Amino acid sequence: MPSSRPASRQKILILGGTAEARLLAAQLIEEGHSVTTSLAGRTVDPVLPDGEVRIGGFGGADGLAAYLRDEQFDRMIDATHPFARRISENAIKASAISGIPLEQRLRPRWQKQPGDRWKSVATLEAAAEALPQAATVFLALGRQYLDAFIGRDDCRFVIRMVDPPETPLGFSDHMLVLGKPASDPDREADLFTAHGITHLVCRNSGGPAGYAKIIAARRLALPVIMIERD
Ligand code: NAP
Repeated sequence: MPSSRPASRQKILILGGTAEARLLAAQLIEEGHSVTTSLAGRTVDPVLPDGEVRIGGFGGADGLAAYLRDEQFDRMIDATHPFARRISENAIKASAISGIPLEQRLRPRWQKQPGDRWKSVATLEAAAEALPQAATVFLALGRQYLDAFIGRDDCRFVIRMVDPPETPLGFSDHMLVLGKPASDPDREADLFTAHGITHLVCRNSGGPAGYAKIIAARRLALPVIMIERD
């Protein structure tokens, strides 16, 4: 049961892991609410939001429902990454189980603009198949999305990762660029040019954080294999 705190001061759980979730936490705290942000714990050194933070899975929808009840949250906001589907499904189920309201704040996808040379695909496998022979490919994908490309040993891969991989990646020809994406399209364009990139592969994540690479590809007229969400 939601607590009897006045509506003006609520106890709110944010399912986070995005820049938008951090902004939201700061805004809700500013409005006087008590905010806890939940992170999955995937990133070694995450940027922490204001307010309380808890890290790690809940053990499925039932675990999340139990946590919501035990901690007496008034509401939950799903501000996770749009490709983080399981936690969003769990949030819907946990809200139904616990009766604690859920609000979804998932960012809209990017829309193709004049000059964009996108080929939209539905899966990682389709993205790997869409690459032409002997392409030099910039993979702007997380560690867990790379394996589909390993079979393309005719291509050269430049792979950007926030944290170095814990185990070797298994590509026959690749190099790593460690760090977060630049917010300046010129820097992204310089990176693509310096590595002789012929194709960019990324997911249609939406939001401003990863958009500089899309602008850079447009400026360079680079083909983009865009993995769309459902
Ligand atoms: P996912 O596939 O939807 O979730 C897998 C499991 O991880 C969930 O069942 C849940 O475990 C746990 N989990 C996910 N998000 C959580 C959260 N915010 N707090 C507590 N547990 C969480 O998620 P994912 O794609 O691996 O993404 C994990 C997190 O990274 C998300 O919070 C997301 O916002 C952030 N992120 C993801 C991406 C991406 O591309 N997927 C990009 C940027 C940031 P239990 O079932 O045990 O509760």
